[in-house]
Amino acid sequence: MAVRVAVNGFGTIGKRVAAAVVKQPDMTLVGVAKTRPSFEAREALQSGYRLYVTGAGDPAEFEKVGLRTAGRIEELLQDVDVVVDAAPDRVGQENARLYQKAGVRAVFQGGEKSEVAEVSFNALANYAAAKDHRTVRVVSCNTTGLARAAAILTTRWEVDHWEATIVRRAADPAETKRGPLNGIIPTLQIPSHHGHDVNTILPNLHITTTAVVVPTTLMHVHVNNVRFRTGPKSAAELVEALRRTPRFHVFSRWEGIQGTPQVMEFARDRGLGRSDMMENVLWEEGVRVDGRTATFFQAIHQESVVIPEVIDAIRAMFDLAPDAARSIAITDRALGLSGPG
Ligand code: NAD
Repeated sequence: MAVRVAVNGFGTIGKRVAAAVVKQPDMTLVGVAKTRPSFEAREALQSGYRLYVTGAGDPAEFEKVGLRTAGRIEELLQDVDVVVDAAPDRVGQENARLYQKAGVRAVFQGGEKSEVAEVSFNALANYAAAKDHRTVRVVSCNTTGLARAAAILTTRWEVDHWEATIVRRAADPAETKRGPLNGIIPTLQIPSHHGHDVNTILPNLHITTTAVVVPTTLMHVHVNNVRFRTGPKSAAELVEALRRTPRFHVFSRWEGIQGTPQVMEFARDRGLGRSDMMENVLWEEGVRVDGRTATFFQAIHQESVVIPEVIDAIRAMFDLAPDAARSIAITDRALGLSGPG
């Protein structure tokens, strides 16, 4: 029987999770919850989702503008097996009490502290760790990108130390209250929290991260320097390993992808919906191996990279697939991701 899913919070992540759940053969979207009426609330109804009111929201506000709601979040929780919390940073931990009271399992997002859930999750790195757990946190977009790459490299070779500089987008495209609009802002906490967050999934990886924020909405870029004890012999070997792995997309030189603007154009042309690019993006010529050190760039589409991970987290919690590879294959086929090759 399909797992019944609710989505609480219908912003950047919530609306993508809802759309992804609908496409899965073993999940049913029961409803989504929003705090306020908006074009997105109308979108939810037009997509055929049942709309519930959450947080400090008032059903009368929805009715006033002609948007029909099916009740409050508490009622939605009565009808589901799991809720995906997609509320703003740190609001998930407040919502956790609600989920516990309703006796439903919960998937939280990376804006929450790791303590919000029993386990932090990335499908390629620690799928089995989420098995049968009642609360799981899918790590943030940057941590997801790093954990995926680290999962592959640590499985094939012996990593001594990983150093990453994270060039962070300032805001999502629809956000108008964040910046900078002009300037480069170093994160004056060295190391940045991302490395520590990767360790919630891969505790034995020696990783140090630093970050700067730049005025763009088009993806994050990671500059990775990985020192191996035993590693790939050439850039081609490293590229080949990533090309064979789901959730990596490696562009060749001839494709003319100079940077994130062309990656987003590719995503718009590919047409998976919302210009999403759920894979780690690499450039073939942006990978170099020098002796025991590899350097490579990867770009991460912050709005969508965690979406397949949320789906796999649900599948792991309910033991719906025998292993990560099978779950990833089901998820990616349903989402239209082309897979390795
Ligand atoms: P968002 O602001 O786009 O959406 C959050 C939604 O939650 C909004 O619709 C808001 O009205 C609603 N909300 C407010 N209070 C609520 C409450 N009490 N209960 C339920 N919903 C409530 O935020 P987002 O970007 O979708 O982020 C959601 C989570 O996903 C955060 O933890 C964030 O860190 C994480 N995340 C975001 C990104 C990204 O780049 N946007 C990437 C990965 C992870």
